[in-house]
Amino acid sequence: MYITRLQIAGFRNYGQAELQLDRGLNLVVGENAQGKSNLLEAVYLLSTLRSSRASSDADLVRRDLLDTEFPVARLRAEVRRAAGNLEIALAVVGRSAEGQRAGKRVRVNGLARRASEAVGELAAVLFSTLDIEVAAGPPILRRRYLDMMVSQVDRGYLRAMQRYQRVLQQRNGLLKRIQARDAAPAELGFWNQELAHAGGVIMKGRADALGLLVAHASQQMAALSDEAETVDLTYKPALGDAIERDLPLDDAEWTDRMLRALEQGRPREIAAGVTLVGPHRDDVEVRIDGLPAGAFASRAQLRTAALSLRLAEAAYIQTCLGDEPVVLLDDVLSELDERRRRGVLDSFETFQQAIVTTADVDRVRDALAGATGRFAVSGGSVSRFEGE
Ligand code: ATP
Ligand code: MG
Repeated sequence: MYITRLQIAGFRNYGQAELQLDRGLNLVVGENAQGKSNLLEAVYLLSTLRSSRASSDADLVRRDLLDTEFPVARLRAEVRRAAGNLEIALAVVGRSAEGQRAGKRVRVNGLARRASEAVGELAAVLFSTLDIEVAAGPPILRRRYLDMMVSQVDRGYLRAMQRYQRVLQQRNGLLKRIQARDAAPAELGFWNQELAHAGGVIMKGRADALGLLVAHASQQMAALSDEAETVDLTYKPALGDAIERDLPLDDAEWTDRMLRALEQGRPREIAAGVTLVGPHRDDVEVRIDGLPAGAFASRAQLRTAALSLRLAEAAYIQTCLGDEPVVLLDDVLSELDERRRRGVLDSFETFQQAIVTTADVDRVRDALAGATGRFAVSGGSVSRFEGE
């Protein structure tokens, strides 16, 4: 799929901006702090309905609008897709006012939709310089990597995640009351069932996604690295002592396994007053050339692994949707050497559209030559330019 038109108003440092985008490679050039990342954030927000840089809705609204009566940021995109053309519009209301609640409103082809129903209508993958953390940083980054990817192509997964979060909070509350002898341990039975049902869907979704990802990721890693390095991803579900060597196959088996883990972990959970097993504690082990990435990998290896994981994400979405996601590259090219830059750009030829930002046009001159659309960003305004 590809975006043909993007409109931004009152979002971050943007006043009013409109871009007619092309199929192929779109290059966005601008000095630091002019709005390049904000532009990609806008596209990513239309795709996932969640900001790429976790923040409150109010942060997304242009700051000088926050004092006005109705502070709202508006994003809109027209998209050509295999599954039929799409027009998606998002309004982010920064503060409650009379008759208006703060929060996000979405319209898909003119009809109001819940955010959870609109996620992934526009499919996108965002490459950022922060991705280097995904392989070696804390487990929450790897869970988020999987969640953002799978929920774009699987509504059932997204619903299970939302239910899981609600049940988890209830169950943690109950554990605290049991600890304080305000509730009976027998009350856990119902919440264990609820948690394990949602958890089963999530763990099955993650295991399946990783099954598809591993081959793509290692293929990309070998192609991008001089030494033909390998990257391995292994799912580490947080099932306490109930974890066995062979992982379950269907939702029901995952749910069973999780129920057992919850039963076994009961004394520990009551003592801790929080839920200790389940997908909110999962991890994915990343190994580069056979060694755990967090402890052993070099910066260059982590960077290459990060690119490989994003390229694998794009391939995963393409496989699941039967349509290519829009790929967004935030300032990633300039930190790569010539060979990797070429490798990344070559692999983009399988996608219909890429939007690539850079602050340093000299470092990516080779990429610029192949760009079909060129845009300059300055102080929250965008203009098209021709030539170099
Ligand atoms: P760099 O090359 O350093 O990555 P950039 O072009 O990617 O820069 P952005 O991250 O897009 O820059 O940010 C541009 C500017 O937008 C920043 O100066 C930031 O302070 C500003 N900004 C962010 N949120 C808001 C907001 N809600 N209202 C007004 N300005 C904002
Ligand atoms: Mg930036």
